[in-house]
Amino acid sequence: ASEAQGSAEYAAALQALDRKHLIHPHQNPTRTERNIFVRGKGSVVWDAADVPFIDGMAGGNWVVAVGHGRAELAEVAASQAEKLEYFSLWREYSNEPAIRLGARLAELAPAGMSKIHFTSGGSDGTEAALKIARRYHFERGNTERTWIIGRQFGYHGTTLAGGSVSGMDDMHFGAGPTMPHVTKVSPPMISHPEMFGGQDPTDFLLQELETEILRVGPEKIAAMIGEPVMGGGGVIVPPEDYWPRIRTLLSKYGILLIADEVITGFGRTGDWFASAHYSPDIIVTAKGISSGYAPLGAVLMRDEIGEVMVGNPEKFFFHGLTYSGHPVACALALTNLDIIERENILGQAKKIESWFVEGLDGIRDLPIVHDVRVHGAMVGIELTADPSTGEPMPFDRMVAVIDDLRGKHRVLARDYGPTLVVGPPLVLEEEQAAEISAAITDVLRNRS
Ligand code: PLP
Repeated sequence: ASEAQGSAEYAAALQALDRKHLIHPHQNPTRTERNIFVRGKGSVVWDAADVPFIDGMAGGNWVVAVGHGRAELAEVAASQAEKLEYFSLWREYSNEPAIRLGARLAELAPAGMSKIHFTSGGSDGTEAALKIARRYHFERGNTERTWIIGRQFGYHGTTLAGGSVSGMDDMHFGAGPTMPHVTKVSPPMISHPEMFGGQDPTDFLLQELETEILRVGPEKIAAMIGEPVMGGGGVIVPPEDYWPRIRTLLSKYGILLIADEVITGFGRTGDWFASAHYSPDIIVTAKGISSGYAPLGAVLMRDEIGEVMVGNPEKFFFHGLTYSGHPVACALALTNLDIIERENILGQAKKIESWFVEGLDGIRDLPIVHDVRVHGAMVGIELTADPSTGEPMPFDRMVAVIDDLRGKHRVLARDYGPTLVVGPPLVLEEEQAAEISAAITDVLRNRS
């Protein structure tokens, strides 16, 4: 504590305390050298030794849509905390910021989705959505409809149920059985045409889904959950007809569609909601709703589903967390949405897309690059260890790329399997996008 703030000694002291006490989310014991960030502005963050980095991951996790260090948001938080820091939304209680945010979300949501349930984040949003889907069918007399369809490489959180419907088995290692009544189908990885046996990918995936629905029995299935664009799977962008055709198929069998918009919601793809055009029944949101200035999530549902949820006078809707609808988080979210609107952040995401498409043009032909995907402010560069077979780049070589970007170029990006991912704040400037693209180009050239 005696070291000067911003010095190498100060950073080292924090490193030592971190190692001694913190069990990090997703902690890899072979990687103990951390960047400890102490402040930020826009798309730049400074570490404990006062070294600036371009934040290519919006707070490391696709969160900080409107950028770091907004005094306007700090003032909103302070004034709400002073006025009323917390009051529960449970049962017969409510609070004004939650009410106003609920009304605002209902305006932004796809038509007919004006019912909102607040959460603290994305995993608990998934949990709520799954319970809501099952309960909806139950209340309508379809008590057998309990199965959930997820997808390989889907990511819906690491809680027991959220993880169970995700497609990443490692997260359950040593943690015993997962949630029953879950099945998974293939992801729309069109960068791997070999997966589709020479067929059109959507045709193949629709057939696979229908076969699985019939195998389980449509009368037993509550819902399918999926991200409009898979984030944790490595920015997997589906063909345009994929979700609309899935929607039609699910409707044919009375199965609900849950869109997990924890990453895509609130502007990242250039729209308020990336799923609006294919009419999901339930939308799970978090991250960009508050830009991370406070933890918050919201589950949006079709009006009829919301009405069914609170329509049984014998059995109430027994679900919710202490911090559901936290007033400070909701007040922050309201101002965050004002900023997104006022600064045309949705338009900005589209510009970011065009800057990366242009900036990354030079890497497409590098031998280690299997595919380059850019969708709004989501960039995925899939790398291969062997261009002749498309063998995925192994973990140690992926982290070497991330470390080069961090160490040599002061650019923060992430590895998701064999995919190098960038998901910056939506206020990223053109020169910063160019810097990130140049850094990636340099590192991948050197590693090719
Ligand atoms: N769903 C998606 C698509 C996510 O990307 C995430 C987190 O990255 C989650 C759910 C889980 O959200 P949280 O970490 O806030 O619980």
